[in-house]
Amino acid sequence: MTDFTYAVDADGVATITWDVAAKSMNVMSLEGFALLDRHIDTALADPAVKGVIVTSGKKDFAGGMDLNVIAQMRAGGAQAIFDGVMQMHAVLRKIERAGMDPKTLKGGKPIVAALPGTALGIGLELPLSCHRIIAADNPKAKIGLPEIMVGIFPGAGGTTRLVRKLGAMMAAPFLLEGKLSDPQKAKAAGIIDEVVAPEALLARAKEWVLAAKEADLVKPWDAKGYKMPGGAPYHAAGFMTFVGASAMVNGKTQGVYPAAKALLSAVYEGALVPFDTALKIEARQFTSVLMNPSASAMIRSLFINKEALEKGANRPQVADQTVQRVGIIGAGMMGAGIAYVSALAGIEVVLIDATPEAADRGRAHSEGLLDKGMKRGKVTAAKKAEVLARITATTDYAALAGCDLIVEAVFEDPKVKAEVTARVEAAIPADCIFATNTSTLPITSLAQASTRPEQFIGIHFFSPVDKMNLVEIIKGRATGDRAVAKALDFVRQIRKTPIVVNDARFFYANRCIIPYINEGIRMVAEGVEPALIENAARLVGMPLGPLQLVDETSIDLGVKIAKATRAAMGDAYPDGAVDAVIFRMADLGRLGRKANAGFYAYDEKGNRLGLWDGLAAEWPVADTQPDLATVQHRLLMAQVLEAVRALEEGVLTDIREGDVGAILGWGFAPWSGGPFGWLDILGQARAVEICDDLTTRFGPRFTAPQSLRDMAAKGTTFYPSAAPATKAA
Ligand code: NAD
Repeated sequence: MTDFTYAVDADGVATITWDVAAKSMNVMSLEGFALLDRHIDTALADPAVKGVIVTSGKKDFAGGMDLNVIAQMRAGGAQAIFDGVMQMHAVLRKIERAGMDPKTLKGGKPIVAALPGTALGIGLELPLSCHRIIAADNPKAKIGLPEIMVGIFPGAGGTTRLVRKLGAMMAAPFLLEGKLSDPQKAKAAGIIDEVVAPEALLARAKEWVLAAKEADLVKPWDAKGYKMPGGAPYHAAGFMTFVGASAMVNGKTQGVYPAAKALLSAVYEGALVPFDTALKIEARQFTSVLMNPSASAMIRSLFINKEALEKGANRPQVADQTVQRVGIIGAGMMGAGIAYVSALAGIEVVLIDATPEAADRGRAHSEGLLDKGMKRGKVTAAKKAEVLARITATTDYAALAGCDLIVEAVFEDPKVKAEVTARVEAAIPADCIFATNTSTLPITSLAQASTRPEQFIGIHFFSPVDKMNLVEIIKGRATGDRAVAKALDFVRQIRKTPIVVNDARFFYANRCIIPYINEGIRMVAEGVEPALIENAARLVGMPLGPLQLVDETSIDLGVKIAKATRAAMGDAYPDGAVDAVIFRMADLGRLGRKANAGFYAYDEKGNRLGLWDGLAAEWPVADTQPDLATVQHRLLMAQVLEAVRALEEGVLTDIREGDVGAILGWGFAPWSGGPFGWLDILGQARAVEICDDLTTRFGPRFTAPQSLRDMAAKGTTFYPSAAPATKAA
């Protein structure tokens, strides 16, 4: 174990260097922490050591805690977590007090953190316990506490120290939103103390250690008369902060994220008590979060599995397929977005449309986004010119020579797509991969227009392309491994998250999201209060209620999909009640946000006002309303059962993709870790019970799939380590 090395120079300055072997980024393990502790003990005990520099042997300081360790800690139960966290507190507190007399606060040794680059999570909590934080002026470095993004919160003193350093109000965006800053901004916010030229980092750290006075080592919260910046909870201003924060957090999270609640409690309760008691409160709250199945489900999907998919967990063993030159056919909303993300990733782009004006408009989309980036100071003029220079907008198919990937994004019409496929294949090299961005047409049937169906694949982007991180890769019946590898390598280049699914109606994401929307609309037809439908969805963690979602995606799209599905399914079509509502909305011209009128009302500027007050006249509200849980179960099961069926049918081949895809693709209740995560939290037996009840009351669409019944009978879960909780949703 050499995660931390220790050396003392001739001037008596010890340097503890964090450098985890065989990893490009330092992450903290329990053994690493113990070694750090031993080095600190050595430095404090050695009379020849005047002070300590804690730094990194890599270009960055640290990426955080090894989240796999957190999973291990959880396995030991609540007491083990609490004891482990308290041990970390003790080490960091030892650094903070650095051998000083607890009464006089004299006699300590200066300990400085010297950060060459990124410092996240425990990688910032450790520096926060040091007496000074000096960072290299490295604009690429990210400094912050992003724990909340994966369902936990800073639990190694970061919460308590940052609140005491900045005040609750100023610390809020860093703790509650996981906001990251570059070193200059982190200094402006007061998180770090000094920013120096990268080459001067260690010299400056040493200079500070040698010049430090006793008073420099006493943290404000250890000094007499400390008052929390901005006021503690019983201070008039502090009181307002805490009342406001509570309301804001509950408004944003709807109370479904245990970490947000526990963080607020740790901050509030911690602010009322002395520092060491606050650390204990932080540890208790942290333990309760780790014990909540939501935390492990979120870490699993949003961190461990997301990263595994991005690294090619399901990539066929085929030579590197990095894309050099992509041809994009159709420069509309999707094609223009795909051109932008490709050019940004350094890929040469040929953007083709039917007319020069349409092609140019597509290229102008990138220009618009780059201009926005310049206004926000994120893009330089040189970067803008470089990215735009990579996009050739044209109508000339001959420009496709030399492309190794095509992404077709023309109208959603099989005839148009077939013509384009033939034209493109006449112009491209024989080994070029052809991808279609269709959202509804089966890949296998579109591939019939291709002379090389093994090189034909679906790459389904979500709108808006520059913001949505999921890309669904769809294999047609004949699609070969190289096409899959090409699509995965392309998605890696543009830094998005891929899932790979087999060909079936609506693939995976749309297959699950359409029943959610339909269930919401069906309830409107039944006379369920529309506000109950929308609030029930949000209270269970869906970012948008089904009625808001259909307004966003547009009601005429719903009508189009309904008509096509009905034509394809004939008598088996199950959604007549839904169609009656959306066809009527379309007749009324209420097509959703784009028409400034839908299930919601909008002002002339397009701001959403509230549910349309004409709904009750069209679909009278019933006297008796269902309870909240019934509405939530209907809305969640509509999606989740579709995910299970997709797995049973082999459309999904990996539950990790089903969960990550659901959260990134349509915002499925992230606190649950995804549909399979939710079923595991609920327990399959309870899930089947809910399905049976819903089937009796609302119809066979809620019939529990056989695989779920089998799992319920055997008491098994989708993920090996999941233990069913008593209650979820
Ligand atoms: P769009 O109407 O905005 O763009 C289509 C573009 O294709 C237009 O610019 C049109 O001029 C061009 N085009 C049509 N026929 C052409 C031809 N023969 N040769 C060259 N260019 C031609 O449509 P969109 O929303 O960008 O959708 C494009 C594709 O992406 C569709 O298959 C759609 O189903 C799919 N898709 C759309 C979304 C979405 O949210 N809009 C999401 C995922 C996938």
